[in-house]
Amino acid sequence: NLIQIAIDGPAGSGKSTVAKKLAQVLGFIYLDTGAMYRTVTLKALRSQIDLNDPQALKAIVDTIAIDFDKDRVLMDREDCTEAIRQPEVSRNVSKVAMDVHVREVMVKQQQQIASNKNVIMDGRDIGTHVLPNADYKFFLVASAEERASRRLRELAAKGFETDLKTLTKEIELRDKLDSERACAPLAQASDAICIDTTTFNIEEVVNALLEIIQN
Ligand code: C5P
Repeated sequence: NLIQIAIDGPAGSGKSTVAKKLAQVLGFIYLDTGAMYRTVTLKALRSQIDLNDPQALKAIVDTIAIDFDKDRVLMDREDCTEAIRQPEVSRNVSKVAMDVHVREVMVKQQQQIASNKNVIMDGRDIGTHVLPNADYKFFLVASAEERASRRLRELAAKGFETDLKTLTKEIELRDKLDSERACAPLAQASDAICIDTTTFNIEEVVNALLEIIQN
């Protein structure tokens, strides 16, 4: 029997770090669905299309090849792992992720990947739409200030210059767009377990989830 674990939550709630660790411990495949929306956004930005134009977005999402090679993300075979974390991509990804056709194509690929392996998937709509029958569903939250300072540390480590105030505003705007969009918004599934990670470190969150999964 295949096991599916869904981890959702707003930006910077610790989802991807926790999901990655958990996948290592359990020997599951890890799928970062946010990276997929980021990759489409990167291609759209490079192609200089109007991000509000569904036809232009369709041309991109229908032809793009997104692949994962261990922890690398490939866009049409080009390693774009670092490029998709640029602030410009973060600032525009919610607009692209609002598009119904973009979501349809992404969700199909995500479900395909989950169809024959034990999987941990993180995103915004995994428990509600992508894997509605997941065996375990978690919803991670944290205060906006804490989430922004986590992002600040990540970005600083990658050499991007920004400040806490700007980042807090950007994260809050992204959460607003993600939770207010019409199609598969950021939401906690009714059967998900919510964990507030504000005062927890990664290890504590991973252990809390493991405790639930292994019992
Ligand atoms: O997880 P991450 O912050 O990298 O996600 C980037 C963006 O991709 C989110 O802000 C959201 O707009 C979009 N996304 C989504 N559905 C998912 C995962 C990400 O709409 N399942």
